[in-house]
This record gives sequence, C-alpha cells and structure tokens, in this order.
Amino acid sequence: MELGFWPEGDEFVMLDDRIPGTGDPRYWRCLNAAWGCNWIVEAESGEIWCRSCRLTRGRPDTGRADAVAAWEIAEGFKRRLVRQLMTLGLPIEAPTHPVGVDAPNPQLGDEPDGVVFDLVHLPDNPGMTGHRPGAITLDLREVDDGYREQVRVSLGEAERTVLGHLRHEVGHHYWRVLVDAPGDHTAFRALFGDERTDYEAALELHYGRPTGPPPASHITYYATSHPAEDWAETFAHYLAIRDGIETVDAYSNRPVGGADALDTGSDGRWVERWRAISEIVNAVTVGLGHPAPYPYRITEPVSAKLSYVHERVATVRRPDGGL
Ligand SMILES: [Zn+2]
Repeated sequence: MELGFWPEGDEFVMLDDRIPGTGDPRYWRCLNAAWGCNWIVEAESGEIWCRSCRLTRGRPDTGRADAVAAWEIAEGFKRRLVRQLMTLGLPIEAPTHPVGVDAPNPQLGDEPDGVVFDLVHLPDNPGMTGHRPGAITLDLREVDDGYREQVRVSLGEAERTVLGHLRHEVGHHYWRVLVDAPGDHTAFRALFGDERTDYEAALELHYGRPTGPPPASHITYYATSHPAEDWAETFAHYLAIRDGIETVDAYSNRPVGGADALDTGSDGRWVERWRAISEIVNAVTVGLGHPAPYPYRITEPVSAKLSYVHERVATVRRPDGGL
C-alpha cells in the first residue's frame, strides 16, 4: 500500500496499484510518477498529469540525466508551491490559450489567463529565470547548490533558494491577477511605488550599483530595484511566512485548514507570530552551525506591504471559505 497526494482534497490517500483492480478506482497516479511525482489524478477528470505537472510546459529531454535529475528536484518545490496556492484559493491553471505557440504572447495589461512553467537547462543562456505574462521560466542550474551559492554571493543576496525563485516569479503573475486586473493601482502605488517606471532602466541602474542591506522600507535589497520587484519579493515572503506558520501549527496540533489557519484579518497579528517563529528558527539553525535561514527584518513599512498582499489574496478566496 502506498500513499499518493490528492491535491483537490489536500490530503494523502492510500493507493495500491501493484495489484490491478484493487486500487481505489477514483484515482490514478500522475504520469510523472516515474520521475518522482507523488500526486494523484481524479479518474473522472480524464487527465493524465496531476494539477502540478499539468502546469509544466518545458522540461529537459529524458536523455540528459543531470538535467532530468535537477528537473525532478525542481518539480518537488513546484508541487509545494502549487499546493500552497491551492490552499490559499488562488487560481492556478494553465492558460486556456497556448502561450507563444499558436497564439501571440500575452502582454502586460491583457486579462491574465493562467500560467505555465518552463523548467529549462540551457547553460549557454544565463539569466533565464524570470516571468513574462503567462509563463514562468526557471533555470535548472539553480538546483545546483554550488552554482546557486556562487550567484548568491556575487549578487550580495542574504539567501537564495529554488522555492524562493518560484514564489517570486509566480508573484509577478499574481500581480496581474490581484492588482492589475481588478484595477487596484492606487492602493498598490501608495505602498510600492509606480510600477510604470521604466523597468529595463531601473534594473540596469540596480545592477550597476553596489549591493547593501535593504533599507527599512523594503524586505530585500533587490526589492528596491523597481516597484514590480518589490511586489514579487513581498509576495514571495508572504508565501514563505504562511508556509512557516502553517507548518508550526501542523506540528503543534493547532487547528489548521489552509487559508483559515491565518484568518486573523489584516491587523498584523500573523506578522507578529512570524517574527517570533522566525526568531526561534534562526536561533536553532545558528546553533546547528548554519547561517540564519531567515535573515530579514519585517519593519513596519514591510509589514504594511505584507498586509496589503494578504488583503488582495483574501479577495479571491472562495466564498465558502473552503480550500
Ligand atoms: Zn504530477
């Protein structure tokens, strides 16, 4: 008997597909089970890939063993991301129109229509990780600890993770869903600045100046580069915080339930909880001889931005409050 994760129900279910006909007929394994996917598919959906794997458009050829191994690891982080987005009630589907295949690429300002992931290994094309409307690209070299650490040091970043990349890039997608499409620009700009500022010029300026600690107004130094990057960094931190609090709650037998676990409104109490949790996590990790895993300060201006993200996410939660 084996377990498979049922994303629609947010729980593990028992499977036994080693004896034909005896397994639960309502589910089958994702077609990517051979590549480490432990999610299952509802049989009546007629799909062959799970909710997460269905979102992958680009992946390495099976003949490239090292790239495939990196892809398997990256898919694990992506499943964690997709599961969290589902529990938050955020829409996470592939676009209904093919992106950049038979249709023109969507542009900023177009109605958001899902998102796909390209998990690619292109050593000759550095800087592939990024977002454009409808598609997120992850450079699979980021899975390599040595490579990622080298880039982290060269950019002066406090920390750098694959999961963090995915959360950041999907944050750009949700800016379109949560801010741009509903036309919430005034409130956004009051906190983050005007996202219409020339992006290319801002990034060029950012990479041309020495790095340093983030000012009190921003969660990371990179967030200072442009309002769109500030949003993506803040959104990524929001997901990290909610993941952390949910995990603590799960291990301490507190009531959990995805979205409801943090249903404390926008009064910032959950930010207070995270400050306390991250302090303990940092202290324990340093005691184990490692660098502090959460080397950030949640100042009042950053807390206000996190609360704004929280409020925007809450607007798309399903009316029944369910997962
Ligand atoms: Zn899968």
